[in-house]
Amino acid sequence: MTIPKAIQNLIESFEKLPGVGPKTAQRLTFYLLHVPQGELDKFASSLQSLKKDTILCSNCFMINDKDPCSICSNSQRDHSLLCVVEQPLDVLALEKGRGYKGIYHVLHGKIDPLNNIGPEEIYISQLIIRLKKQDSEVKEIIIATNPTMEGEATAMYIAKQLKVQNPELKITRIGRGLPVGADLEYADDTTLQRAMEGRSEY
Ligand SMILES: [Zn+2]
Repeated sequence: MTIPKAIQNLIESFEKLPGVGPKTAQRLTFYLLHVPQGELDKFASSLQSLKKDTILCSNCFMINDKDPCSICSNSQRDHSLLCVVEQPLDVLALEKGRGYKGIYHVLHGKIDPLNNIGPEEIYISQLIIRLKKQDSEVKEIIIATNPTMEGEATAMYIAKQLKVQNPELKITRIGRGLPVGADLEYADDTTLQRAMEGRSEY
């Protein structure tokens, strides 16, 4: 017996997702066969609008539904304090804590030579250009890349570049409270807040 093409196609799509093997892909597909058509239509339309209805903020590169994003365009936020993170999910984690009132810059990755990711592959030059702008109010940069080897290397690279550009700029590194090798995304609110408060100057 051959598997119908519609089923085979969906299995193959699931298999492309991270952490999903052939067995799980099959299980998910056959599970969906039992879901009412209305639910499936909702699922399909969410997938379709995922990229169509979102946009990267041209200022901080956070994912949002408008450009500039809701954080960059919020005058209540402290625009003199800028936090550099690896991923959009890190922004969500820091926002959940409500302790941080500054703005962000999302790198969309980290320097990772073993996987051929150099400084040009992530949004570092965009950060440097952003800080050079006349209307930049930034006085302090908090580098909140993950405390992994790649995250540390990325933090050091950025700090060096920024120091050369503007020796006046205060550059701090998020740190205390976060275990080495940890992922910002999975840290609890209190740990994140303590890490923010315990930042040290480069
Ligand atoms: Zn933004």
